[in-house]
Amino acid sequence: DYAVEIEDLAFSHKDGTRALKGINLRIKKGSKTAILGPNGAGKSTLLLHLNGIYLPQHGRVRVMGLEVNRENEKKIRQTVGLVFQDPDDQVFCTTVWEDVAFGPMNFNLPEDEVQRRVKQALRAVRLEGLEQKMPFHLSYGQRKRVAIAGVLALRPEILVLDEPHAFLDPSSKSELMKIMDGINSEGRTIIVATHDVDFAYEWADDVVIIKDGRVLAQGGPDILSEDKVINESELEYPVLVKL
Ligand code: ADP
Ligand code: MG
Ligand code: MG
Repeated sequence: DYAVEIEDLAFSHKDGTRALKGINLRIKKGSKTAILGPNGAGKSTLLLHLNGIYLPQHGRVRVMGLEVNRENEKKIRQTVGLVFQDPDDQVFCTTVWEDVAFGPMNFNLPEDEVQRRVKQALRAVRLEGLEQKMPFHLSYGQRKRVAIAGVLALRPEILVLDEPHAFLDPSSKSELMKIMDGINSEGRTIIVATHDVDFAYEWADDVVIIKDGRVLAQGGPDILSEDKVINESELEYPVLVKL
């Protein structure tokens, strides 16, 4: 069974840049999948299709059997949680509590249910007790976890993270890996876009390599050690910032 099914997806940005040139891809339910590729490969453009921020211009995308189109937009936003690369695009309220509650409140869930979800989401990202903090007083890595909690509070079946390791130091990275494994062990599918080959090799059950808007290869992490499909020097590693 597949969490994501993509057929012949092509997409050009408004300025004419052809970001996706015919993507065919299936991602198994409950898997930990890394989408690996150099800068500009089309990773972010692809991820933005998974929760309907972009709609297919050509081809189709299904998530948990649901067609990504305008009609299904609301259901798709609840099925697929997307964590942007920069937490400051997602964390903007006065307090951590408000940020994590923002999604469930938008879906008009009752107050006690919102409370329960905020608590549980903050526990999942190991930020309990910080509800009343102002996000801008937290570290970058903590803000990233607030963004993840905000997405988790909608209880998505699929969690998608765009370059979650960018700008994280090694200890925050390994903390984040544990958090993602915890979320995956609840049965959620996790899809991570990254250009970190070592992370993909260590963390993922399935690796998809994309370059220039096309899928080059898909398989177990071993495809990274055997084939050297990707020349590591092409991959720009993000700068590490000490927290
Ligand atoms: P990645 O996430 O793998 O770095 P992107 O999906 O961001 O790749 O980019 C794929 C291609 O689309 C690149 O050529 C990039 O410059 C271009 N691109 C991305 N976003 C936009 C946009 N909003 N407008 C125009 N071009 C874009
Ligand atoms: Mg990029
Ligand atoms: Mg990107």
